[in-house]
Amino acid sequence: MDPKLKRMASSVLTVLLLLEGGMFSSSSPPSSGVLENIFQHIDLHQNEFIQSLKEWVGIESDSVQPLPHLRQEIFKMMDIAADKLRHLGATVDSIDMGYQQLPNGQNLPIPPVLLAELGNDPKKPTVCIYGHLDVQPAKKEDGWLTDPFSLIEVDGKLYGRGTTDNKGPVLAWINAVAAFKALNQDIPVNIKFIIEGMEEAGSISLDELIKREKERFFSSVDYIVISDNLWISKTKPALTYGTRGNIYFTVEVKCRDQDFHSGTFGGILNEPMADLVSLLGSLVDSSGHILIPGIYDNVAPLSEEEKRMYEAIDLNMEEYQNSSQVKKFLFDTKEEILMHLWRYPSLSIHGIEGAFDEPGAKTVIPSQVIGKFSIRLVPHMNISVVETQVKKHLEDIFSQRNSPTN
Ligand SMILES: [Zn+2]
Repeated sequence: MDPKLKRMASSVLTVLLLLEGGMFSSSSPPSSGVLENIFQHIDLHQNEFIQSLKEWVGIESDSVQPLPHLRQEIFKMMDIAADKLRHLGATVDSIDMGYQQLPNGQNLPIPPVLLAELGNDPKKPTVCIYGHLDVQPAKKEDGWLTDPFSLIEVDGKLYGRGTTDNKGPVLAWINAVAAFKALNQDIPVNIKFIIEGMEEAGSISLDELIKREKERFFSSVDYIVISDNLWISKTKPALTYGTRGNIYFTVEVKCRDQDFHSGTFGGILNEPMADLVSLLGSLVDSSGHILIPGIYDNVAPLSEEEKRMYEAIDLNMEEYQNSSQVKKFLFDTKEEILMHLWRYPSLSIHGIEGAFDEPGAKTVIPSQVIGKFSIRLVPHMNISVVETQVKKHLEDIFSQRNSPTN
């Protein structure tokens, strides 16, 4: 629920910064006079931009709940976006993505991915913009102060599900291009869009489409821009040029097929949950340091130059702490916080399948549990090396417990 207007303005700015930047080998960036006109055009048309955002936010394009009526809303959303892109003069391919198989055997259609192209001048670089138009579920009861599916202005800020993630930024890109078009200004880059409607549900089937289009749609792409990220402060726009990777693990401990009762078996078993808790507890210490041997070996060493870059970053710790609603972080300084978010690996424990997680007391001993954790990867960690290190560490810890579970 971030202030929308600022984010929209910033995304437009991002486009313009890119257009101004040093990426043009054979075509020149717009002059400052042109940019002046464009900024003026944006100011004059602000109400129209907000009106479009209002229409988009009003569509409950929730991809997380697998319900047919919500899925239809995403289809509607993708249709409206395709029309808007065509209106820009882009050629739009609406790619059929097949079906999502649900655990109950039901099939739900996956909304199309839009592949759009505007301009194909071989002398210009090609920028591809990624965005998604589906959203997470939202209900007033979740703590929203306004109806999540109406765009509502409070204190000069616009609130509504999807305003920043990610309908607003997609619209901002479209509006930026439209501003160039409206003023009859040559756009110094070829533009492509890839827009999906299943991001919040794990971008189902998107990777296959991208691989399929490698030699066609993506063959001419020089730059990919993703406006689906965070600002670190509320006042300064951020340009993200890299993110950490992620490797996800599950670890299963099993004794037998049926659960036990603590009255009849408690005290004579190596309980799977106890084994799993000790495995999970061996991964990271209370200062956030990962305890898997060798895990930091390949992490790029911190240079003096890099250190100085962190000192120059504008982050108000008090504001950051308040907006995060966390009493105390593992680190006190801005530099340490940012480095541990950006340039060091981290390990997070996410959940236990098979655990008794409902309220109240129950005397069951789960016979089989699956722990879930993930590691955020940084340069120059190697995914298969990390996998081997994690496996070896868990096996070592498990063998120390001398447990007959497996
Ligand atoms: Zn997003």
